[in-house]
Amino acid sequence: MQADLKVFQKISQKLIDYEQKEGVTKPIEANQLFETLDLDLDEEGLDEEKFESLLEDVVLSTPRTSTKLFFNQLFGGRSHKGTLGELLAVMLNNSMYTYKVGGPQVGIEKAIIDKVCKMLNFGKNADGTFPPGGSMSNFMAMLMGRDAYNRDIKLEGVSEKMIIYTSDTSHYSITKNAMFGGIGISQIRKIETDKFGKMKPLALQNQIEEDMKHGFQPFFVNATAGTTVLGAFDDIEAIHHITKNYKNLWLHVDGAYCGSVIFSEKYKHLVDGVEHADSFSFNAHKMLNVPLSCSILITKEKHNLKHSFACDADYLYQTDGDEYNLGKTSLQCGRRNDALKFWTLWKSVGTKGLEQMVNQQFDLAETARTYIENHSDYKLYSYEDSISVCFNYKNIDPKDLCNSLYQDGKLMVGYGEFDGETFVRLVTINSTNRDKDILNFFKVMETYVAEKHEDLVTL
Ligand SMILES: *Cc1c(COP(=O)(O)O)cnc(C)c1O
Repeated sequence: MQADLKVFQKISQKLIDYEQKEGVTKPIEANQLFETLDLDLDEEGLDEEKFESLLEDVVLSTPRTSTKLFFNQLFGGRSHKGTLGELLAVMLNNSMYTYKVGGPQVGIEKAIIDKVCKMLNFGKNADGTFPPGGSMSNFMAMLMGRDAYNRDIKLEGVSEKMIIYTSDTSHYSITKNAMFGGIGISQIRKIETDKFGKMKPLALQNQIEEDMKHGFQPFFVNATAGTTVLGAFDDIEAIHHITKNYKNLWLHVDGAYCGSVIFSEKYKHLVDGVEHADSFSFNAHKMLNVPLSCSILITKEKHNLKHSFACDADYLYQTDGDEYNLGKTSLQCGRRNDALKFWTLWKSVGTKGLEQMVNQQFDLAETARTYIENHSDYKLYSYEDSISVCFNYKNIDPKDLCNSLYQDGKLMVGYGEFDGETFVRLVTINSTNRDKDILNFFKVMETYVAEKHEDLVTL
């Protein structure tokens, strides 16, 4: 192991040097990947020297998501303390289902869940778990909603038309989950949004009434805290005002992208009303920059978690009470330790440190929007209180611009679509960035366009 740890150190150091020197890497064309790198597996193993050199090539030709030029997705940057925790979790290699195998790691997971329950004001019966990602957090929430509506479904299966409500700008996992959960895609009602991308509460109300008239069973409303394209926050208070009038209508808040605003005194008002929700989830690997993946799902009544996810397994749960056997409330059986990396970060910077990260992302977004508004070559498509900054530059086709920047290894940024317009979506989620890094993004892009203008497609 010692020798391999040295290899790890050596390659990691090289990666960090390249990140600083080159930014995101120039991509290998997908159809040339297997000719460029020796990825195929053979009967004989490689000798150590060749193995190390190949591993280094693979690492250095992989897209560098931790650099100051990666703005492509809803994660980015490298949290040092989070990475340290992740590396130790790999060394420990526990599984989180029982106290017998997880020991203090179980306490770490519980400490995070307890603290988040308190921050949400979810009351003394709240509990949670670490699902494998935000999509699966939404899935677990939907299953709890389904089973709370009709407690026999886990025995008999779904036999009625049960209806899901979510905005037309919400995450596609809601659709996938309706497929997996036996609900069916046809039972999803995509509720209209306003110009900011927020669900229209009145449209929700009308749709529920319409479905009740047909004898359908409304059981699950998904509100989004940070929509995937515009970063919009649904009005949870207004949505609760409607859902509270219907029996067993579960309200879930999908905060995968921006639910971490709960850590900021300045921005937690964006999820006002969240204390009324039945469940809430967020991805610490998004706004809190913890390494992928780290998702947390909280529910107000822990019996719902137990009802939907506990199954007896005598071979597994041989010691200690259920409170410390976390497998009783998780989706998987064997489960990796996603808690330690979040705990190492949180413990080292405190809640105040997490708050600063969140605030920094909104500050960077403000810097970007101000730059765009002050330069007439740009058109802005997004709004305040969002860390997604959407724009077009000089009428250049955003798809071509993003793809060309990527192909030439300049920077990585994606495009999005809302209300019939397509635009570049700059996500200021890397809280290690400073204002100068955002201004550098524009400079790199403008210099590139000046050089390449002839070749780029215009709108
Ligand atoms: C990212 C995201 C998800 C999915 O989370 P994964 O961890 O990628 O599965 C769900 N909802 C929203 C709003 C998101 O931004």
